[in-house]
Formats: sequence, C-alpha cells, structure tokens
Amino acid sequence: MEKMDGLLEDLKAMGEGFATTFRHLFRKPVTEEYPEYKRALPERSRARIILTRDPDGRERCVACYLCSAVCPVNCISMQSAEQADGRRIATWFRINFGRCIYCGLCEEACPTSAIQLTPDFENCNREILSLVHEKGQLLVDHCGKDREYNFYRYTGIATSDAPKGSRENEEKPVNVRSNLP
Ligand code: SF4
Ligand code: SF4
Repeated sequence: MEKMDGLLEDLKAMGEGFATTFRHLFRKPVTEEYPEYKRALPERSRARIILTRDPDGRERCVACYLCSAVCPVNCISMQSAEQADGRRIATWFRINFGRCIYCGLCEEACPTSAIQLTPDFENCNREILSLVHEKGQLLVDHCGKDREYNFYRYTGIATSDAPKGSRENEEKPVNVRSNLP
C-alpha cells in the first residue's frame, strides 16, 4: 500500500511538471534579441567610466589620487599639477579597462564627482592595448549623473579668482590673533 501511495505521489508531481511546461508553450517569449533590441539600463549601471565637468564647464578632477588608491586592481594612474589660478588638474589620466572590474569604488571615493561609471557596456575589443583609455577619451563635456556639484564652491580652497571666504555660504577666515587672551 505504501508503495502505491509513493507511486501516485510521483505521478502527480510529474503531471504538475508537464502541465507547467505545457502552459508555457502558449506564453509570449520574454527573450530579448541583443543586439537588435537594446534595453535601456538604469542610470546607476556600472560600465564605461568617464571624467565629467562641473556646471561651469571646467574639469572636475583635482588629481587627488583617491580613485587610484582605492582601485582594487590598480588600473588608474595619473599625474597631478597646479594651474596658474591655483586649481589642481591631472596633466594625464589613464584607465586600463582591460583590468577594470567595474566595482564602482573609484566613483565612491571621488570627492569632486569627477569620475563616474555609465551604463555604456559595449566597449569589448580584441585589441588589448586599445582598452587603455587616456584622458582625452575619458573626459566628457557634461556633468554626468551629478548635475549640480562644484567642488570649488564648497570646499574653501582658495583660487586666484576666489580667495578664502569669498564663496557663497563660506565663512570668512578666522583671525587667530583676535582669539588670543
Ligand atoms: S570601477 Fe573599480 S576596478 Fe574599475 S577603475 Fe574603478 S575602482 Fe578600479
Ligand atoms: S577622479 Fe576624483 S578621486 Fe580620482 S583623482 Fe580625480 S578628483 Fe581624485
């Protein structure tokens, strides 16, 4: 009797499985034919990396090396310099996409919102050296995801066109001598 019960249970389970398969024969397929159809990916998808500009159109990167330091595969390198107006800049900036694992840590570490990952994932290439992108290929002429932030407006760093304490919402520098007893 026990064997009979077990057999019936097996047959029932098989019947349910076949019924599910049969139902799916009449459903609309959900397969998307890539590359004919390209699904729009969310803005925060992590693929090709860009260097963005601030709302004034100037380069955001201040060559602080934080992205390079945090990168787990060591694929970012650059050289820093100071411009005549006191703003820091990367004279060259390089990312080796052959090593990048698109983890997004560089974007998290960046204090100026300069380096950003984009949804553009179509950058495969058989020429390994062409995956090394220089600053000219990385730098774009827009703000990317962060359309407002301008590092120099908030950080109190003096430049030739804006001395300390002159920017919006910035306190005047403290005169330490006035604090002496
Ligand atoms: S996404 Fe990750 S691996 Fe790629 S450059 Fe940034 S920190 Fe490095
Ligand atoms: S991209 Fe950002 S984190 Fe990297 S060097 Fe430039 S400012 Fe610093």
